[in-house]
Amino acid sequence: MIIKKSKDAMQHYFEDNSGITGAFADFVCLAQNEDDICSFLADMSRSKIPVTVAGALTGNTGSGLAFGGAILSLEQMNQIGDIEVADGKEAFVKVQAGARISDIKDKVKKEGWMYAPDPTEYTAFIGGNISTNASGARGFKFGATRKHVCALEVVFSDGSKSFIERGKHIANNKGIIKFNSDKGEKFIELPKYVLPKNIKNAAGYYNYPNADLIDVLIGSDGTLCVIESAILNLIPHFKEVFGAVVFFENLDKCYDFVKKIKINAAKTKQENLKSSINPMSVEFFDKNALSLVETIYPDIPKNSNAAVMFEQDIYGDDDETLLNEIWIAFIEKEVVDLEKIWFAENLDQMEKFRTFRHKIPECVNEIIKKNKVPKIGTDFAVPEGKLANIMDFLRAEFEKIGIFNLVFGHIGENHLHANILAQTQTEYEKCKSMYIEIAKKVVELGGTVSAEHGIGKSRHIFLEKMLGENGFIEMAKLKKALDPANILGRSNIFPEKYLLY
Ligand SMILES: Cc1cc2nc3c(=O)[nH]c(=O)nc-3n(C[C@H](O)[C@H](O)[C@H](O)COP(=O)(O)OP(=O)(O)OC[C@H]3O[C@@H](n4cnc5c(N)ncnc54)[C@H](O)[C@@H]3O)c2cc1C
Repeated sequence: MIIKKSKDAMQHYFEDNSGITGAFADFVCLAQNEDDICSFLADMSRSKIPVTVAGALTGNTGSGLAFGGAILSLEQMNQIGDIEVADGKEAFVKVQAGARISDIKDKVKKEGWMYAPDPTEYTAFIGGNISTNASGARGFKFGATRKHVCALEVVFSDGSKSFIERGKHIANNKGIIKFNSDKGEKFIELPKYVLPKNIKNAAGYYNYPNADLIDVLIGSDGTLCVIESAILNLIPHFKEVFGAVVFFENLDKCYDFVKKIKINAAKTKQENLKSSINPMSVEFFDKNALSLVETIYPDIPKNSNAAVMFEQDIYGDDDETLLNEIWIAFIEKEVVDLEKIWFAENLDQMEKFRTFRHKIPECVNEIIKKNKVPKIGTDFAVPEGKLANIMDFLRAEFEKIGIFNLVFGHIGENHLHANILAQTQTEYEKCKSMYIEIAKKVVELGGTVSAEHGIGKSRHIFLEKMLGENGFIEMAKLKKALDPANILGRSNIFPEKYLLY
């Protein structure tokens, strides 16, 4: 293992995209192999030195930032194994936690396969994506990271290790999961809180009835174990993609367009139709989100109050011409102003739209870094049929506060990022109070306060509105069972004080 102690060498680990400042650590450990991770964690547990696992530090919640103790980085454990093909429809690849999403996607694509989850930030590590159950735009069709992870090799804070395979460690009816590590048996008890159903969620430890242990570890934000490697599920790569960015003056028309895409996609899935509307992503940008990038993209049509971007994937057995015609007929029927559409006919052209989509959070992050005020952005998702309620609520709150704000994100899954760009600490405090009200409303509507970024260090208060203090106490109990020395990911997901119960 390599240990870095100089301030210069460590500086890089003290910043992510949360805007949280003041991170510090005594040293950074760069693990080279499994033995390094095991011996390092066992030492840290004995000495009770906190350990924060740093991924690529693209996170938005400060969860990869240390406030004292040690940083463990797996950046040098970045191997991507050979693809194992199960049949023509499925394959697997083993990856070490420090492998970047871009490298995984590129490597498997060369052999005709696709790692389907598509979080916008491709420089992230797979370890970070698994720890946050990241999703992104294509979650509309493919779901979040969790669904695509078949097995994990993990190391616990006492230095013991386990191979956790999907389907092998299921909670009994009392919510207990027992499993083995190389140093003996372990067990956890699932929390009792009920998580929102049928929406994507990255808030709180996973706890559905008869939950699978692998699903509890995925999304645990660096608090329960160190993920050393994962076996990922791959599907055949699409042969082509087309799509569009459709601009709207009328917001209701825009929401209606999205609603109809969703109805069509649901029908395609239900009836298992070929060559029918079923896009990978359906993304939304409000007027202010568009205004943020209008100098980079001067061809954004004037008077646009919103835009929707979709990407339709085409596979070998699809009739590409028919699918194109179906979409064009749909657009001609549903869109008022056909002049205000950017079309992409293939993957290369679609990549430009992806860059456009990525520019918006990038610009937000740049402004936040410049303002030196922590990020205030929602990551909520609400159940089907509740989007209009939360949007009306948001608009009213934003109007009251009068600070520049923008809304964009994964409207196909009722999951939007509403960012407000506070410029001073006073503004930040004001916005934070407003965000607590938004969190309460989301929970009242049956939604989640975090659908993909996780809770990290900056969103405890929102999670508290969703799971209550009891939820925190139950999560702390679960964490103590796997990390008795309480060294891993301190202050991630819930405040440290709950570990004293
Ligand atoms: C421009 C931009 C766009 C983004 N878009 C999306 C998006 O569309 N969807 C989305 O979900 N996220 C998005 N994100 C957020 C971010 O990319 C994800 O949260 C990502 O999963 C973080 O991965 P990372 O490797 O950077 O991890 P970090 O930020 O370094 O860490 C995140 C968490 O993972 C833990 N962790 C990392 N590696 C391990 C490991 N090996 N074992 C145990 N714990 C570990 C850390 O301790 C921490 O708790 C975006 C970020 C940016 C900057």
